Amino acid sequence: MTTGRVVVPEPGLAAGIPGLATEAEGPEDVVLMRPAEPGSRPPAAGAVGRALGAAVVLLPADRVHARWVAAVAAVWAATGTPDLTRSLQSLVSMLSGGDSGALIRRPEPDGTPAAALPLPLLARLTLRAWLPCPHCSGGGGVPRGACGGCGRTMEAAA
Ligand SMILES: [Zn+2]
Repeated sequence: MTTGRVVVPEPGLAAGIPGLATEAEGPEDVVLMRPAEPGSRPPAAGAVGRALGAAVVLLPADRVHARWVAAVAAVWAATGTPDLTRSLQSLVSMLSGGDSGALIRRPEPDGTPAAALPLPLLARLTLRAWLPCPHCSGGGGVPRGACGGCGRTMEAAA
């Protein structure tokens, strides 16, 4: 299984982050998008990605967090991380308040998170922490965090 490209359709969100695409082209791609503002229509890019069979991962609504996830995703894709979608779903779930197991720190004054360990190891541990979402098909995350597929809150661990 090949790792697809990471696609960030939102204009400007991923500015300056190398290795990201802006349009989904096929089922191996992973589309990263922030949730729609309340009351506004969801961006068309999500529907386009799903129609192509690409995975769609909901980024944090917070722009700083969203940029950080996109940057991590670019590194993971470039290094052939297996099951990129699930690792990313766990990562955004941890940022939303889910159980992070101290994998993520927030040392920067602007709130930019930082991985507490090297990114390849972070990929493996986030993948291991992943649980399927009880609310949607294909989504998932970590206990108490938002699902990376549908955005609803995952249950606490039993
Ligand atoms: Zn879900």
